[in-house]
Amino acid sequence: MKYLDEFSDPVLARKLVDQIHATATKPWAMMEVCGGQTHTIVRHGIDQLLPDGVEMIHGPGCPVCVTPLEIIDKALEIASQPGVIFCSFGDMLRVPGSGRDLFRIKSQGGDVRVVYSPLDALRLAQQHPDKQVVFFGIGFETTAPPNAMTVYQAKKLGIPNFSLLVSHVRVPPAIEAIMQSPSCRVQGFLAAGHVCSVMGTAEYPELADRYGVPIVVTGFEPLDILAGILRTVSQLEKGEHVVENAYRRAVRDEGNPAAKAMLADVFETTDRAWRGIGMIPQSGWRLSERYREYDAEYRFQVRDITTQESTVCRSGEVLQGLIKPHECSAFGTLCTPRNPLGATMVSSEGACAAYYLYRRLETPAEVVMTGG
Ligand code: SF4
Repeated sequence: MKYLDEFSDPVLARKLVDQIHATATKPWAMMEVCGGQTHTIVRHGIDQLLPDGVEMIHGPGCPVCVTPLEIIDKALEIASQPGVIFCSFGDMLRVPGSGRDLFRIKSQGGDVRVVYSPLDALRLAQQHPDKQVVFFGIGFETTAPPNAMTVYQAKKLGIPNFSLLVSHVRVPPAIEAIMQSPSCRVQGFLAAGHVCSVMGTAEYPELADRYGVPIVVTGFEPLDILAGILRTVSQLEKGEHVVENAYRRAVRDEGNPAAKAMLADVFETTDRAWRGIGMIPQSGWRLSERYREYDAEYRFQVRDITTQESTVCRSGEVLQGLIKPHECSAFGTLCTPRNPLGATMVSSEGACAAYYLYRRLETPAEVVMTGG
């Protein structure tokens, strides 16, 4: 397939692996920010091809995984109310809240619908003026622009029965929080290419400078990942720490001006809690004052709901790269994709799900025997 096959070419991959081996003279630890990159790395065994001591730390860039339990409980509360059509992308339906999930609400008669675009939810609002239609708007800088556009359209078209439950997060403050953690081992970052295709690269030079880390904007296919690793290792070996764009076929330095303008109009930055990590200052977006009437948290008065995270699940440590998924005692036993304890096992982009899918046979025998 065009733009996919040529970025999985095994001969070129071998050349890049050889170059990484020829370049690395000492151990380095780097983090791939995005869950999509984690899946490519684990699926293709890229981390196992690297020189001894060159380690990939799996970052927090999975939108489902970092959505706080509290927001999921708010979604469940709203979705269970009569007269509500609750719309979401499919991957949120199985994410467990404190005691149930959106599938359970649906099985109990709630009107929960999977949509493929927030604009589908807006159309539903037009078709059902007697219902309240809510879209669950989660994710990074990638999913935020279409959600912003939908709220903009709702206001422009005068559709009062649409609202957005917002839990958007931003990558740069997360990088900052990771670097400020006392247990941080990260020496370089593969930044998320799709995020940069929206936001550009301007937010990263200051971070690279302040924390002395190379940041390489990287794509998602095997050759993209290997090229990102090679550039990061090269910088580390030379003692450099600059921002490089290794995903030029998709990322312009200025990003997507139209998307950024829409974000600036509809959203404002806010402190946001990340599941398993905690509050990161100014790491999220919420609807700005001008669009507050479309904020489902205000409309349904669920702002006071607070929730405690599970004590068994170690997804916070996974999301910060402090442990690998199979080091969690529940991995493959108490926790499987069919019965997930934490969001990193639920999401198709989660690190625990990636290890379960591609690596569980490499974990200790007792895990394999009891895994679902
Ligand atoms: S394996 Fe399950 S319980 Fe353990 S950290 Fe991952 S999601 Fe949480």
